[in-house]
Amino acid sequence: MDVKKEPFGKTKDGQRVDMYSLANANDMRAKVMTYGAILVSLEVPDRQGNPGEVTLGFDSLDGYLKGHPYFGAIVGRYANRIGKGKFTIDGKEYTLATNNGPNHLHGGLVGFDKVVWNAELLESTDGVAVKFTYLSKDGEEGYPGNLNCTVIYTLTSDGLRIEYEARTDKTTPVNLTNHAYFNFAGKGDILGHEITLNAGDYTTVDEGLIPTGEIRAVKGTALDMTKPTAIGDGIKKLGQGYDHNFVLNKKNENELSLAATVYEPTTGRKMEVFTTQPGMQFYTGNFLDGSVIGRGGQAYQKHSGFCLETQHFPDSPNKPNFPTVFLKPGELYQSTTIHKFSTK
Ligand code: BGC
Repeated sequence: MDVKKEPFGKTKDGQRVDMYSLANANDMRAKVMTYGAILVSLEVPDRQGNPGEVTLGFDSLDGYLKGHPYFGAIVGRYANRIGKGKFTIDGKEYTLATNNGPNHLHGGLVGFDKVVWNAELLESTDGVAVKFTYLSKDGEEGYPGNLNCTVIYTLTSDGLRIEYEARTDKTTPVNLTNHAYFNFAGKGDILGHEITLNAGDYTTVDEGLIPTGEIRAVKGTALDMTKPTAIGDGIKKLGQGYDHNFVLNKKNENELSLAATVYEPTTGRKMEVFTTQPGMQFYTGNFLDGSVIGRGGQAYQKHSGFCLETQHFPDSPNKPNFPTVFLKPGELYQSTTIHKFSTK
């Protein structure tokens, strides 16, 4: 296990950004930076034991500063969409920044992905860890309350664990996730990757991707990935691609359970995602169109990566039948997601 801290540049307003590189004894490497608490790079071995990049991203800070669709970022204060950017707490209506048509997406105009976090190395019994902290002030992007957030990335012997915590001084919605785009082939598209989702239901949405409130079974639809399915086969049935919130099968609320398995047959890389969250957005990079030039000069085309954003359901602040996302003063928000890698 080994760790290195290096400067990675400065933001437009002159704030210093640091990069932490973590390595384990099994040839896995992760790079995380203080800008957006972004997972910049993740390398894992293929079937032959050769480590290779499995995420989309940029070689320099500049790529991230120019704007990008949340590559590797921590997304908050509320990941995914809130209809019309509005919700009500104790009879008071709050209005958030809207940045996705009439709706609020991924924390607004300056979400947690576009701020500089504090960072420190952490003693960990099962890996090398970096702890990021950020204070989101009362009123930021329209949200109530000062929210103290902590995100810990730990590179363990077989993958990456991400732990989230938050505390507030006024009731506020909170929904934190990581928005990494994966591609286990290291190039091309993800259509040949085989995915299995441990999800029997999904949340139906309107044309703006805001849930209608209904939870519907996936059975008999292209959303049924309860058995291994080539992502490309599912997309053929769907049209554009996946951009859906799945309701994860759980025995108990908040249990850490298997949410997804993805296997790439040419390299043999396999990832299992475990999470305490009730939902997961499966997004197949439908809006990538070659205009973002990433690592090594690659133009990221439609379906060059997929995201498994473990989260609460979209628009939960306005859907009383969904698990609650309101965090109250004195309560602790806590969630964990694990990305476990192997080959076969
Ligand atoms: C959303 C997509 C969006 C993408 C990038 C995903 O979480 O569900 O609709 O285009 O993030 O912003």
